[in-house]
Amino acid sequence: MALIIRNGRVCDPSQGLDKVADILVLDGRIAALGEGLEAPPEAEVVDASGLVVAPGFIDVHVHLREPGFVAKETIATGTRAAAAGGFTAVCCMANTSPVNDSPLVTRYILDRARESAACRVYPIGAVTKGLQGEALADIGGMAAAGVVALSDDGHGVANANLMRRALEYAADFDLPVIDHCENRDLAAGGVINEGAISTHLGVRGMTRAAEEADVARDVVLASLTGARIHIAHLSAAGSLELVRRAQAQGLPMTCEVTPHHLALDESAVLELGAVAKMNPPLRTAADVEALLEGVADGVVACIATDHAPHTSLEKDQVLAHAPFGVVGLECAVSLMLDRLHWRHGISLPRIVELFSTGPARVFNLPGGTLQIGRPADMTLLDLSREIVVDTRRWQSKARNCPFDGWQLKGAPVMTLIDGKRVTVSGASPVEAASPREMVATTSRTS
Ligand SMILES: [Zn+2]
Repeated sequence: MALIIRNGRVCDPSQGLDKVADILVLDGRIAALGEGLEAPPEAEVVDASGLVVAPGFIDVHVHLREPGFVAKETIATGTRAAAAGGFTAVCCMANTSPVNDSPLVTRYILDRARESAACRVYPIGAVTKGLQGEALADIGGMAAAGVVALSDDGHGVANANLMRRALEYAADFDLPVIDHCENRDLAAGGVINEGAISTHLGVRGMTRAAEEADVARDVVLASLTGARIHIAHLSAAGSLELVRRAQAQGLPMTCEVTPHHLALDESAVLELGAVAKMNPPLRTAADVEALLEGVADGVVACIATDHAPHTSLEKDQVLAHAPFGVVGLECAVSLMLDRLHWRHGISLPRIVELFSTGPARVFNLPGGTLQIGRPADMTLLDLSREIVVDTRRWQSKARNCPFDGWQLKGAPVMTLIDGKRVTVSGASPVEAASPREMVATTSRTS
């Protein structure tokens, strides 16, 4: 099997590369990278003139909902959404039913992924049994079965001593612990960010202090244990400052931010209601500014969607009762190219790092690079393509997305895994008029 991608702007932060070049793929691996490469006569040719060729994008925070909540999403639909959105790999959270707290469930997810996934799937195991926060899950067993990290995402680990033990144990297996930082006493009953808007709408607010308090505790525990802690969906300026200072002290702390926390502030709730309800909540414009700074200057390691599908029935409730969460796999890359690159002038190599090299580094994943000999996982981008987000055409089962109808500049146009184009509806994205039209023909079964 041979494929040559000609004349693309090859952008690979892992090697400090950003230049027009060809990439030759043989038997699913990157065989050569350079200008004017020779290719075997039978090689398939992709003309990438005017396109960016990047290491495959990785989303480290996705809820695939299977097993247990397949009305919301499945491994098949969630990974098709990922591939359509330009991702070659996703890490899936443990809050399924049953919870991924044992090697049995980890192996089940990996088996289902082998049968039905459109991209690579890396399971994340629970920190505590049943996400109950009372006893450690079978961390060693899950590590052996193939989890890439541990997290009780959906909740924080409230018991600091249990968190300490989890960090010590996880370090033995070189697994990062991802913490959903939400002090349960401070956040209890909260619906949206605490402030003028929560007061105006008459709903309970969630203070930023709930996040900051847990991040601060985690800084102390990282210092105590030397173990790696990754802060999920960091949303508040104060939390970012704590991570920044921890990193300056040399502590092994990393963090991710979501596209929605970078593109929206709490005022979106006034217009969108429950569609803009997520946990942590959208914060203030000042928080968004701070997050953008962290994205630009390197404190933030990854952009991760926190893709959280729900059925329309569940989400079409009043603000106070609707579940938390938004979906993002199919618009995240366009949204970030539009906002970060075109609006805020953040460099393309930095954006590629946030979506590929950064996640691969934090989670010790095999991707995130276009080095010779590595699997040919790639994401091709068209920085100038203008798209309109249309959730009706999505692969995901869910429609709970605040960006429906947004016009964006920049889009993923091809996803390659092991050198093979991922075609989610029988057509290649780059041959269709737009990626959205390409996915429109897929029948949706639920
Ligand atoms: Zn979370």
